[in-house]
Amino acid sequence: MASISIQNLHKSYGTLNVLKEFSLDIEDGEFVVLVGPSGCGKSTILKLLAGLEPASGGKIMLGDRDVTDVAPGERDIAMVFQNYALYPHLTVAQNIGFGLKMRKMSQAEIDRRVMEAAKTLAVDPYLNRRPKDLSGGQRQRVALGRAIVREPLAFMMDEPLSNLDAKLRVHMRAEIGALHKRVGVTTVYVTHDQVEAMTMADRVVLMRNGEIQQIADPDTLFQKPDNLFVASFIGSPGMNFVSSPVDRASGAAMVEVLGTKVDVSDHNVDGVSDVIVGFRPEHINLGDGLVNFNVRPSLVESLGSEKYVYFDGGSTQVRLSAGTEDENSKGLIARVAHTGAFDETAEQRMSLDPANLYLFDPKTELAL
Ligand code: ADP
Ligand code: MG
Repeated sequence: MASISIQNLHKSYGTLNVLKEFSLDIEDGEFVVLVGPSGCGKSTILKLLAGLEPASGGKIMLGDRDVTDVAPGERDIAMVFQNYALYPHLTVAQNIGFGLKMRKMSQAEIDRRVMEAAKTLAVDPYLNRRPKDLSGGQRQRVALGRAIVREPLAFMMDEPLSNLDAKLRVHMRAEIGALHKRVGVTTVYVTHDQVEAMTMADRVVLMRNGEIQQIADPDTLFQKPDNLFVASFIGSPGMNFVSSPVDRASGAAMVEVLGTKVDVSDHNVDGVSDVIVGFRPEHINLGDGLVNFNVRPSLVESLGSEKYVYFDGGSTQVRLSAGTEDENSKGLIARVAHTGAFDETAEQRMSLDPANLYLFDPKTELAL
């Protein structure tokens, strides 16, 4: 096991800068998740850490050893990919132990490690089966076993659950979490799925276009986003955004949210003439509260335990380029408790607590 220190790492392919001055210190035994949209450079970092691609600049320390120019085989890092190709003609035991055999380890030691890993991953009843006779989840566990038996200094996992169906993904998420607690090896886990990142990580590194947007534990990332991108990326359904000028006529700094004036003097709005106001769907309540507004639903989706009520935010609604077309076209969203009688065609009274508003500077996109 080892800590990992990434210092000003960058990577370019020709003129394309895919990773810009990336720095991150990972503690020994920590589970860090890199998350961000497709193409933001997540896999690139793992490849640089594992030595599968050379860095264009910067430094990688594994423990107190500089491994920046060390060959992959000498780094003692195990990689688990989304496409966990198992050898079809080998048994589960042979698949798990394959890398050790290549290293000319004694058969007794291989058997010991394979059995230990198989037990940890609960695939020990299937050691003599071939991959085709396993379920998707069992195959993924065999792939993890292959990484574990190497007893590496660190694990790199690149979207290892993407090929599994939703239910199995949730199950394997918990299993990998439990596995990490047992084995305790420093792990860098990559996903584009913010739910996966939030549920698994000690710390989340949220990336965009090869740059770090915020590094924080899941709660902080959700509650105190540093900027508009983080606010929009974390949370499902995503945060709502409306624009408003800042009105100081009364002495206090006031903004308008869905037709209602709100005092935002406790935010750092000095010198800012316009803001983007964010509020999460789950912070909208049915009925009167502190900041009230009327809404005519354009669409109501019932999820059984709760409802998503979509409504038009009018000209103030901010449609972020980060959002998908589908998300943006649906309008603003309230996530409300399921109430028996809900007339979907009638105007609804809804409310917000001003304490749950987020303010952003539209120019810098930073939280205010
Ligand atoms: P992610 O894993 O976050 O989806 P990647 O790290 O795979 O993103 O890729 C980041 C960017 O680098 C993408 O724009 C991708 O097209 C580009 N890229 C990756 N590998 C190469 C390569 N071998 N040559 C040129 N561009 C590449
Ligand atoms: Mg990738």
